[in-house]
Amino acid sequence: MEFRQSSKLSEVCYEIRGPVIEHANALEEAGHSVLRLNTGNPALFGFEAPEEIVQDMIRMLPKAHGYTDSRGILSARRAVAQRYQGMGLPDVDVDDVFLGNGVSELVSMAVQALLEDGDEVLIPAPDFPLWTAVTTLAGGKAVHYLCDESADWYPDLDDMAAKITDRTRAVVIINPNNPTGAVYPREIVEGILDLARRHQLMVFADEIYDQIVYDEAVHHPAASLAPDLVVLTFGGLSKTYRVAGFRSGWLVVSGPRQHAKSYLEGLTMLASMRLCPNAPAQYAIQAALGGRQSIHELTAPGGRLREQRDRAWEKLNEIPGVSCVKPKGALYAFPRLDPKVHRIHDDEKFVLDLLLREKIQVVQGTGFNWPRPDHFRILTLPYADDLDAAISRIGRFLSGYRQQ
Ligand code: PLP
Repeated sequence: MEFRQSSKLSEVCYEIRGPVIEHANALEEAGHSVLRLNTGNPALFGFEAPEEIVQDMIRMLPKAHGYTDSRGILSARRAVAQRYQGMGLPDVDVDDVFLGNGVSELVSMAVQALLEDGDEVLIPAPDFPLWTAVTTLAGGKAVHYLCDESADWYPDLDDMAAKITDRTRAVVIINPNNPTGAVYPREIVEGILDLARRHQLMVFADEIYDQIVYDEAVHHPAASLAPDLVVLTFGGLSKTYRVAGFRSGWLVVSGPRQHAKSYLEGLTMLASMRLCPNAPAQYAIQAALGGRQSIHELTAPGGRLREQRDRAWEKLNEIPGVSCVKPKGALYAFPRLDPKVHRIHDDEKFVLDLLLREKIQVVQGTGFNWPRPDHFRILTLPYADDLDAAISRIGRFLSGYRQQ
């Protein structure tokens, strides 16, 4: 008797924690130290959780042992609603907020609640691959619109428009973007919203990095530019507050909810089916959103995240045959390997070979649904000197690397 995985999983892929991890684990078990540059987990790179959040959670822990309201506790939902009121969504209130075990759980619920089999969702390429995986698992079809590397990785609106069909139900915007680090100018966000308006698409705005922007970049929340559209905005504590392990996120519904009554009932039912989000982590939200926003010290000139972004970008561009658009936000860089120089035809093998030789784990570009094997993603979370050393080793590896 063999238990086989469901055929529903056959088209689902999630490479950020993909098969290469097994090799990384085996190396560590054999006594090697592996530099894990695959998951955007600030805790691994010396980022502490802000003290006031931890203290609040500890204080509330004795009272956080029961189930809560399925959508989350009122005080946290109020703090989230107020955050978005301050970001140009004046009529958002507590009833528009759903808390979740990280944005990941809410993405899954939001997509499941919407799709019929065969419905299409416009998702960027490259993407944060959860969106594609969840769409596929929900019986939908992920249709990837291209982001243009030669235009700072902004979405190609013509490509997006050309891919809209009568089965398209929603468009996903990831801004600031994982993996490219792009932060979209207002006219690009408006261009996407215009297409959503014309084709009556629901908008899923994954803005988990909305506070992590560098230089003169400004984040434009999609929902604030489209009060006439149903927009679901996603955010959470994992990145801005460096507490990814708490699993604490939210989604906020805005726009003409009266046109989404049945959808919201479905979403509420899915929220009830998971009973409630982890209660102690919900108590972290009010403390986080109400307190000093220490992320800004990290992204400002001289701040640790900004310095690391600069160093990664400079060092990557020094490698012959590698070019990298400067990330304007988030925690990643997505460099290009010139196919004329590096001739990589299997980027998963490239990533595995790099791991085995240099003990550095990055993620291949095709893992982000990028159509060609000519990119990889690296984190900008390690200390600048560690990034410097790691990227030098990647450069050395590439200089002697040939795929048959
Ligand atoms: N959305 C994007 C764009 C992400 O990069 C991530 C995590 O890396 C998530 C969502 C999921 O975050 P969470 O930890 O809240 O589940």
